[in-house]
Order: sequence, then C-alpha cells, then structure tokens
Amino acid sequence: MINFFGINKNVQILLTSDHTLMSNYHGKEFLGFGTSVPPNVIPDSIFRFIFFPKIPTKRGMPVEAPYGLRKIEAKLLDEDFDALTTSPNHLKDYIRKADVLCLHTMDPFGWGPSSSTFTKVLKTGKPFVARYFEELLDRKEVVRAKERGLKIIVGGPGAWQFRYDTEFLERHGIDSVMIGEGDLAVIDLARRALDGKELPQFYDVKGEDIPTVEEIPEIKNPSINGLIEVGRGCVRHCKFCEVAKRPLRWYPLEKIEKEMKVNARRDNAKNIILHAEDIPLYGSKNTIPAREKVLDLMKLAKRYNDDVSWSHASIAAVAADPKLIEECSEIIVDEKQSWWGAEVGIETGSPRLMKETMAGKAHPFDIEEWPEIVKTGMGIADDNNLVPACTLIAGLPGEEEDDVIKTIELVEDLKDYKSLIVPLFFVPLGQLTKEDWFEAEEVTELQRELLIICLKHGLRWSRAFVEDYYGAGMRGKLLSLPMKYFIRAIKRRAKKEGFI
Ligand code: SF4
Repeated sequence: MINFFGINKNVQILLTSDHTLMSNYHGKEFLGFGTSVPPNVIPDSIFRFIFFPKIPTKRGMPVEAPYGLRKIEAKLLDEDFDALTTSPNHLKDYIRKADVLCLHTMDPFGWGPSSSTFTKVLKTGKPFVARYFEELLDRKEVVRAKERGLKIIVGGPGAWQFRYDTEFLERHGIDSVMIGEGDLAVIDLARRALDGKELPQFYDVKGEDIPTVEEIPEIKNPSINGLIEVGRGCVRHCKFCEVAKRPLRWYPLEKIEKEMKVNARRDNAKNIILHAEDIPLYGSKNTIPAREKVLDLMKLAKRYNDDVSWSHASIAAVAADPKLIEECSEIIVDEKQSWWGAEVGIETGSPRLMKETMAGKAHPFDIEEWPEIVKTGMGIADDNNLVPACTLIAGLPGEEEDDVIKTIELVEDLKDYKSLIVPLFFVPLGQLTKEDWFEAEEVTELQRELLIICLKHGLRWSRAFVEDYYGAGMRGKLLSLPMKYFIRAIKRRAKKEGFI
C-alpha cells in the first residue's frame, strides 16, 4: 500500500530508534548528553524540550536519523531489501505489515559511563536514554506486531549491555542482538529473519564479519547533525576501551564526500560533525598526524558546510602538531563559525595510572610527561578556538590517593582554558570487563574534591559556553533561556549542598 506521499507502508524491514536518539538536539549535538541524565529538578517535558526535542519529519520520515541507523539502512538498500527508517512517532503507521524491526541503541540500560555516573550521583531513577528505549519496546503497536510474528533485531554501541540481562530480551521479545560493527552482519540476520529461520540471540561481529572500507556502505539519507564517519578503530589501545579491539580504517575523501552530498540535501542545516576516535590522526597509520590529509579533509568539510566540528581528538595528537591545529583553525573559523569542539579523553593526571591502563594515549610523547602533554595540548586548543569537552575517569582499577591528587592538580592547571571537564565513573569495558564497576558509595574525600573542582570549572565557563553555543541571534537567545535556567538550577543545588 502506497500512501499519499508515495511511501510504501507495507515495508518489510523497519528501522528506528527511541526518542532520545531520534533528535537533532536543536542542531547542537553536545546537548545529547542530557539523554543520559535521570529525571531531575526540571519537569520531564521541559527537560526533553531543552535537550532532545522530537525530530522534524517530512512526508512521515525523519529528516535526519542516527548515523549508525543510516549505515544499516544503506546496507539493506544496497542489498535490495525493502527497508525504511521511520521516526518513533510514526512507527505505528508502518509496523502493521513489517516482518523485521531493527532498533539502534546507544545505552539501553543506562550503564554507559555518562549515564551510570549521573544515575549513581543523582539517585533519581533510570536515565532518559534507558526509559525511552523500554517505552518504545512496550508500545502497543510493537507488542501487537510481535504477537503476529515480527522479529526484533537490536544493534548499536550499547548492545553489549544485553549480555548482562538476557531476561530483558525475552521479556521484550528481542530476537537478536548484533554486537560490534553490523554493516555485514545485518544482511545475514535480515535474510534469516525474512526466511523464518532461527536467529542467534547474540551475533558477535568478528573476523570476516568486520567490514573493510569498501564494504562499509555510504549513507543514502541524511544523518543527525550531519555526522559523518571518516574512519574506524584506534591505534592507542587503551585497556578500558571497546574501540581498541577494532582494526584501524580511514575512509578516502571520495567516500566521505558522497556522504557530505547526501547531508547537503537537508533544509536549513549546514553543519557537519566529522566522526572518528582521533580526527587529527585522519589518514595516519601511527600517532603522528598526516597534516596534509587532515587539512584536505577540513577543506572538503568546509566546502559543504558552514559549521564543522570534530567528534573526538586526542590531546597528544593536538600537542604533537600545533601547526596543524593552527591551520585547521584558519580553515574552520570564519565569519560563520567562531569556534569548534571535540571530545577529549584526559582520564587522569597520573602518569603511573596511565602507564598501567592506557600507555598508548601519550604517543608520540613519553607517558611520564602526561600532565605536561595535556597542558600543552589544551593551550594549543585554546589559542586556536578549539573548545574541548574533556572526560576523566574516577575509580580506574588500581587508582590510589596520589593518583587523584595528580588529577586534581592537573584540572586546577587547566582552569584558564575554555573547556568542560566531566568526571565519569569507571565502567568495566574493553580488556577490563572482569574489574568491578565504580560506585558512588566508594567515592573518597579526594575524589569528591575532584568532582567539585570539575563542577566549578564547568560553572565558571558555562556563561561563555552558552553564548558560543547558541549564538547572539534572537533564535539563539530564545533557545538558550531554558539552558540558562537549567544551569541556574544546578548552581542553586550545588550551593545548597555546600559544593560552591
Ligand atoms: S584513545 Fe580513545 S578510542 Fe583510542 S583506545 Fe583510547 S579510549 Fe579508545
């Protein structure tokens, strides 16, 4: 049955995600962190409006969708499956005849580092990201479709969490979970599901199922906030990281440009987030930036977009080539864009702990110089309008008081650099899955002091952040009002608790 807009409502494979992921966060990806917060002082509906409003739809389809979902959609279309991505709001319009539902999830139980930290500190229940995921599975239309034989396949960065609660899979009728890069695995699973064959409860992507650059499809429809992957894998091999298990692959510019052209079809949106674990290392096989390749990538990104940002950068790569960052800034910063952001993992100020869990993080420098590397890199970033959102890990296995003191000293030394510094509780991932989770009850006086210093750092820069992030125009001013209210609420609470 074709609807008024010419869209096939009898599609075989439907793809979607819950509300927390199917949002463009007002075009400001960083606001997506709000999805990992549990209910709090702000009423839920207002909180949702501030952080993850509904994605606009056009002819019933989301104008943008999560990049990972778009990749799976692209592979299915390349292989001639009858597949379509819908927004959670329109799921009921398409699910009645669908045979397979593919769900993308980041953090289904709220166990990721950010949500587990917020949950353990605030103690007000499950974070939004987990609540909305379950809400999607509990919908009447999904339950009814399950009763008539719909198969549900789930994938995405948070898929590992299901291993620890298989009862949840049974309770919600999830047939199969893809763990790892699903670009090739989804073909096999979709065929088996459509042929009525048994599906494995877990499909671990490894060996030949890990796609080569050529096997990774190019998206066919726009991604949220123009996010485009430029490579996968990482050469630094931190022990706590899942990405470290994957091979390094950089995409050629032609492949990246094809996706930029797809995202250029969006109305009134000319932003791009270049995604990789270490953007300054684009095209490099080691930890020395391949400067010309990175600059070519920046020029290409800027040709199609007014606003360019990076998903992640290592501070060692920033420190390794100050000229590269300066030249990137010359390309990126112009009359349409005054700064750009990247997530940066600082993790600890202790070289001893670094050596034990993430010796590669400081390459090409000596790990013993870690605090100096961080300060140098942050200084270079600050000089060139690159604003880092930094993470620390509290409760790394083997962390001692002296390590926390070193981290506190480092954070204090960074106070004049415009940045966010967010401490996250340790989550046992990567090679450290046998270690214990870090719990709020284990927070020592020193760790508490570190959390407070980071909070003060964030509040100190919050006004500048809000101005930069929302811009000086009327729309920006209006959109920033709820955020200012949110920051004031945090300040009030912090004062009440005696933190500031
Ligand atoms: S640098 Fe980042 S992505 Fe690379 S292994 Fe370490 S934590 Fe993972």
